[in-house]
Amino acid sequence: MKTAQDLKILLQNIDHKSYPAYKSAQGSYQFRNYVLSIDHVQGDPFASPSRVSIRVKGSAAAFPPSLYDTVQKKVALQDLLLRLFGEQIEQFNFKARGSGKSGLLAVSRCGQEILERSACAISAGDGGLTLQMQIGFPASGRTIQSRELIRILYDFLPGCVENSLFYKNISADLCRRTAELCEDQEYIREELRRRSLAAFIADGSVLPRRSGVSELPMKNAVAFRSPEALAVTLDLPHRGTIRGMGIPRGITLVVGGGFHGKSTLLKALERGVYNHIAGDGREYVITSADAVKLRAEDARSISQVDISLFINHLPGGRDTGNFSTEDASGSTSQAANMVEAMEAGSSLFLIDEDTSATNFMIRDELMQRVVSDAEEPITPFISRVRELYEKAGISSVIVAGSSGSYFHTADVVIQMKEYLPLDITEKAREEAARYPEVLTASSAFRMPSFRRIPRAGSALRGQERIKRKVLGHEGIQINKSSTDLRYLEQLADTEQLAALAYILSYSARHLMDGSRTLREIVDLLEEKMDREGLPALSDGPYLSSDLARPRRQEIFACLDRCRELSFTLRRQ
Ligand code: ADP
Ligand code: MG
Repeated sequence: MKTAQDLKILLQNIDHKSYPAYKSAQGSYQFRNYVLSIDHVQGDPFASPSRVSIRVKGSAAAFPPSLYDTVQKKVALQDLLLRLFGEQIEQFNFKARGSGKSGLLAVSRCGQEILERSACAISAGDGGLTLQMQIGFPASGRTIQSRELIRILYDFLPGCVENSLFYKNISADLCRRTAELCEDQEYIREELRRRSLAAFIADGSVLPRRSGVSELPMKNAVAFRSPEALAVTLDLPHRGTIRGMGIPRGITLVVGGGFHGKSTLLKALERGVYNHIAGDGREYVITSADAVKLRAEDARSISQVDISLFINHLPGGRDTGNFSTEDASGSTSQAANMVEAMEAGSSLFLIDEDTSATNFMIRDELMQRVVSDAEEPITPFISRVRELYEKAGISSVIVAGSSGSYFHTADVVIQMKEYLPLDITEKAREEAARYPEVLTASSAFRMPSFRRIPRAGSALRGQERIKRKVLGHEGIQINKSSTDLRYLEQLADTEQLAALAYILSYSARHLMDGSRTLREIVDLLEEKMDREGLPALSDGPYLSSDLARPRRQEIFACLDRCRELSFTLRRQ
């Protein structure tokens, strides 16, 4: 392997040459205690910065295996190292000078959730560490300023690597606490299963965020406290005894006046599918990992989804056993979202009336008298929610501030009052008993069939270089085809959208062979990512962007929303 000295000489030789000469620096170089690889050199100082990786041998990084001996702990340690490295390079960002992005130093920015990211990978085998970063190779105009790059690579980076990627130089206590928090969080997730709970919210949790644009915890928020009737006490392996609210499996209704914290509670449950970092306020808010927030999503496309559980005899005799549309209504979109979530294996539905189609959720008595059930295509969710639990094992948490219809069918009713939950199950039951339940006539419950086979249109399969773009939180674009993901509220990070763009193009090119069902394709994808990590999705020697792993549920949801896929049904 070439040495650090070789690289320095090379860089000195190209000083003041034209920018493309930087390409000759591509390759791997042995520095004192790590290998630096220049994986991709940007085309000019204004283009996306160059991609550089740093590899530290397991024996040198020397993290005790107990810090990464489960998948979750490994992800938590990778996340911690990324944050530490990010803090280190921050002080040198743009310290080297030049035009455009010259001198930029960046690494994936981690938010409140702990996610598996391509930017940092620890090998489960030998503890070796790979970190990927971006560097803006300096130039003035298009003239190489390699002395500035030499400053970055020889004066700035070695200290950053030294201070953040070697166990001996970082706080052992911080590492231990990170692993312990992760073990406690995983313990709660296990405990949910054992105790038949859908979610747990610890006393003292801070659920609201600072603002609509900040995911940091709100200052001086009312801390969560469980009502006695729903209180559960857990014995965490590290933190010890912890009390909180256990939401039992079944049907839970959250009611309360406007502005009393209902949606905030539901949002916390939505994000409880991920582990949160210490200090977030939601460290011990843990939801079944497969929970899906379901909402109306007008105008989405739907392809060959069996929505007959909820919608039948549409005008014009359209078949709802394999329903397709380019422009769904509120109710058909919510029905499709639900059936697709079943296909993705969700065991918990999270629904907020604020973002639901009213006619999908309920139909009141007066309306039933005026428009007979026979004339109404929709079997509202309220008529299915009990069967979904009893016949398909799917629990629901429903936020409803304005309709009392769900009182009859709920197992638990929580009232949010001044941001605190009260258990009002008994009271609600008594009131409901005096008020007749309005039942809608509905067909027998039948599990939808999941036999859809996706095929990719040419926009996704093109043999030439694939162009992938992330449109913020709004969606992704592959070549000319864009997929709208803005309503997937459980996507926590744009790097997850970047990963979905890779997943979509990877599965279109390698997995959609016209015989595999959607489920089989997602299974294969997940196995591949489990085995080889996120770089497995790349079609070249390196990933051209940083990725964070999305959940199975969002992978389904993304493929379901891609208008370049057409679905057919496998014969039974
Ligand atoms: P609802 O859905 O019941 O109308 P929201 O959940 O939207 O109410 O909350 C209303 C407002 O109260 C939001 O601005 C939210 O940030 C704030 N809020 C929610 N929970 C708390 C809390 N525990 N402490 C302080 N403020 C809160
Ligand atoms: Mg609300």
